[in-house]
Parts: sequence; C-alpha cells; structure tokens
Amino acid sequence: SGAARYIGRFAPSPTGPLHAGSLVAALASWLDARAHGGQWLVRIEDVDTPRCVPGADQLILQQLATCGLVPDAEPQWQSARSAHYQRALDQLVAQGHAYPCACSRKDIEDAQAALGHARERHAALPYPGTCRHGLQGRTGRSWRFNATDFKQKQPLPPDGYALPAINSIANNALHWHDRRLGPQQQDVARSVGDFVLHRADGLWAYQLAVVVDDAAQGITDVVRGEDLADNTPRQILLQQALGVPTPRYLHTPLVHGANGEKLSKQNGARALDLADPLQALAQAALVLGLPALEHPHNNHLGDALTRWVAAWRRHYNGSP
Ligand code: GLU
Repeated sequence: SGAARYIGRFAPSPTGPLHAGSLVAALASWLDARAHGGQWLVRIEDVDTPRCVPGADQLILQQLATCGLVPDAEPQWQSARSAHYQRALDQLVAQGHAYPCACSRKDIEDAQAALGHARERHAALPYPGTCRHGLQGRTGRSWRFNATDFKQKQPLPPDGYALPAINSIANNALHWHDRRLGPQQQDVARSVGDFVLHRADGLWAYQLAVVVDDAAQGITDVVRGEDLADNTPRQILLQQALGVPTPRYLHTPLVHGANGEKLSKQNGARALDLADPLQALAQAALVLGLPALEHPHNNHLGDALTRWVAAWRRHYNGSP
C-alpha cells in the first residue's frame, strides 16, 4: 500500500472554532495521511451559510497551524463551488436519480401521520416519497435523491487502491467497510428515505457537496468522526450514481462531554485552549487510543507528532 497515492482531508464546518471533538478528527486525518506518506487537504464546508460564523474559517486554519497541522495545498471553500454541485445535480436529474419535491415540513409530517407513524416519535422518519412520481401540479422546492430504485454495485476504488469486495448484494442494505468499525450496512430507503440534495432554501445539502468535492479532490481516504458514519451509505449511493470512486472510510471515536453526550458546538463545547497545543493534541491522541508520550513536557510539537504517526501506523494500518 506504500506505493499507492493517498489523499486525505479534514473538512470542518466553520460554525465556530475547533473544539476537543473536531481536533480529534483533524489529528486523525493528518496522522493517517502522514502514516501513508500521503497528502492532507483542508476543505472549509461553508454551504450551510446560516450556521456559519464569520471568521471561524480563518480561526480554524490558525488553530490547526498552532497544532502543527498544515495542509499540503491551499484550503478550499465549498461556498465557491456551487457550479460544480449544480452540474452534479443536473447529471442526477438527467439520469433519473433525482427529482423535485414540493413538500413542506408540515406536508411531510402529515403524510407520515397518514401512514400511521406517531408524530411524537423521536427518530427522524424517512421521507414518505410523496413527490417521487411527480409534483401533481405543485411547485418544486427542493431536490431529492431517489434511494428506492437503487441496486448496489461493487464500489469503484480510487486509483491504485483495492477496496474490500462487497459480497452480500442480496438484500436492500448498502454494505460498506469501515477501517475501524469493520463491516457496516444500512438500508437507506428504509431508514433515511429519499434524501435532500438541494434544499428548499436554495442551499446545497452536505451529502451532495461532500461527495462532489471528495471526488474532485481525488480523496482516497476519509477519516472523520463516528457521528458521521451513518451518512456514509448515502454518500456511497451518490458516488455510484455519479460514477465516481468510493474512498476508504475510517470513523474515529467521539469525545463525550460531562453529560455523556457527544461533544459538539451545538451542546456548548468550549473552544480549545491552545496556549499549550501539545496538551490539547495529547488529549486527542488519547481519544484515538494512541499511547501517552513518555515525557510529555520535554517534547517538541514536531517530535510528538512524529511519534504519534508511528503509533498510528501500529494501531490503524492493520485489519480490519
Ligand atoms: N463538515 C462536516 C462536519 O464538520 C464534516 C464532513 C466530513 O468530514 O465528511 O461535521
């Protein structure tokens, strides 16, 4: 595998500065790229503009640099890439994989209730498919991916890579392999339904933007937090529909807050204290299961990162 081209990325949404959880994903993706002698890119995922905080992108890049995590090419901003997302949507529509949807949130809830689903259920219910076969004279607001007629194919590997073969294409579940979690599957049509590609408010959906950009940047390996693992089947569906390669995936352990919940900007994770970047990185390395440094205070940042690369190779390069 040493000879294969490797391109990895860290793809933060600039909704605030890095926190302890996002630093874990940043460090893990950087370590995996270094462990493979590959390239590490940073992509600012600023498509969900109402949630973006002005200046957070520059702050994140600064925080990464303070931690010694410097991208191998100029960062890219998703807000500059609408034309590419539009082209991908046009392709999906032309191929019959995407359709316009006129439903408001209330329409969807009513349709779900009519199907006998209790309104107060917590789990997000799949879209009931109201507009799948036409708008019935209504006006389209969003665009959805038709997940119902999907038949899984063998994934197309990135250049020079082998992906584990998918042996069980028999049922409706999409099967995929995670380098840390092992074999995974999800029936996208049943558990998520026809998901949104272009939102009613005119914004591009994360699922489409991330797939278009991972393909455009030639990403061979996605390393990101486990909270995103259940998005992977949707992204593989899109890759197959668009005819682009499927990267390898590794989802990292999450950081839990004092309340036991996953740490996120939404539940008030405090900004990282980067007065001592080595300390912050050591915390992140611990979450990743890497051994503690022997003399934490005598280490230079660069030396510590070099040691973690070696430790990463031992922990994550083997099976599964
Ligand atoms: N922008 C996404 C987030 O910050 C991550 C996307 C990804 O790594 O695929 O949650």
